Amino acid sequence: MSTKIVDVSPAASTNLTGSVRVAIFTVVKGMVMDIKFLDLQAQYQSIKSEINYAIDRVLKSSTFALGPAVQEFEEAYAEFCGTRYCVGVDSGTSALVLTLRSLDIDLGDEVVTSANTFIATIEAIIHAGARPVLVDVDPVSRNMNPALLEKAITCRTRAVIPVHLYGRAADMAPILRIAEEKDIAVIEDASQAHGARYRDRRVGSMGLAATFSFYPSKNLGAIGEAGAITTNDISLARKLRMLRDHGSERKYYHDLVGYNARMDGIQGAVLKVKLKYLAKWNERRNYVARRYHEGLSQAGITLPEMNDDYYQVFHQYVIETDRRDELQTYLRERGIPTMIHYPAPNHRQLSMRFLGYSEADFPVTEKLAGSVLSLPIYPELTDDQIDFISQRVTDFSYQCEQIA
Ligand SMILES: *Cc1c(COP(=O)(O)O)cnc(C)c1O
Repeated sequence: MSTKIVDVSPAASTNLTGSVRVAIFTVVKGMVMDIKFLDLQAQYQSIKSEINYAIDRVLKSSTFALGPAVQEFEEAYAEFCGTRYCVGVDSGTSALVLTLRSLDIDLGDEVVTSANTFIATIEAIIHAGARPVLVDVDPVSRNMNPALLEKAITCRTRAVIPVHLYGRAADMAPILRIAEEKDIAVIEDASQAHGARYRDRRVGSMGLAATFSFYPSKNLGAIGEAGAITTNDISLARKLRMLRDHGSERKYYHDLVGYNARMDGIQGAVLKVKLKYLAKWNERRNYVARRYHEGLSQAGITLPEMNDDYYQVFHQYVIETDRRDELQTYLRERGIPTMIHYPAPNHRQLSMRFLGYSEADFPVTEKLAGSVLSLPIYPELTDDQIDFISQRVTDFSYQCEQIA
């Protein structure tokens, strides 16, 4: 089907009311260009029979918590990440809490992580009984600044959690070197980077352990809540399997104070089906990002860096502009949904006040919170939709230039 966007110049349509303009702007040869921020239904429809069959098998076997479907997924996911073990759990947050708990944290111990992350990373450190120490990010990678990590380490530091934000690996070479020198554990928070690579290494295989979320909107998403930990360390894997199931290896014998953090059988079955497509879906996200990169080259905004050291899986495509809120409104009026990851920095959240940080502590994270905007990115986004979005963003900056 050939689709051509009916373009109405902003000048010609200024006498129209907002909603009429939206309608005209989003018409594609008689059909409305319905752009979603994320389209999980389209993904489901593309593999519906396989998913339904996998769910049906679990229903028939009635192994609803852990069981063979979870084990099969764990084996497949460990192989995908290039690690020996994978432990399936009930969320990415549980994956972090259990991994940190396995380190036997003492009161007063510190765990360093990136200030620019989803709040779960920091919550998990607190739940494990450690004190979170945040470090600011690099303005280009938007990930942990390794020079600041070095300064943040004290004699109480037990671990560092680099976060591979938006689908781009953190700058792991210096982080691994510093951690080795200081003898602290590296736990990758890979919840936004399933399948990403750093040079020749795969995300999930670089530290002592890596944690993943399979929240439905992630690159690999369950049909509910799920998460996992990957590691090459057999005793860690064993301890994690115990911690997820009330500290037990043998039913009704509990050697550790554990949790209920088991993965559901249905989630394991669905994830195993979806895992087959993950590399292809990541490839398509990468293509969408490259097409945005070209389409937005004249838009006068900051784009995510393309860097050959990183195979990025673009969980989000995040642009930056000083006129972020105006641009978001402009796009919304033209039928383009966007989001902000994240509008309120963690260190200024009410729940984190007790850490005693101020705005001045993390200038890069602060600047990002005021300027980032995530454009729609997912495998099912069409070329026409990508071009339409790129064109509207570019129009916005021309309009700004004329006013200025
Ligand atoms: C999603 C996410 C988490 C938490 O995962 P849940 O499965 O929602 O508990 C942790 N860290 C990062 C960076 C995330 O994006």
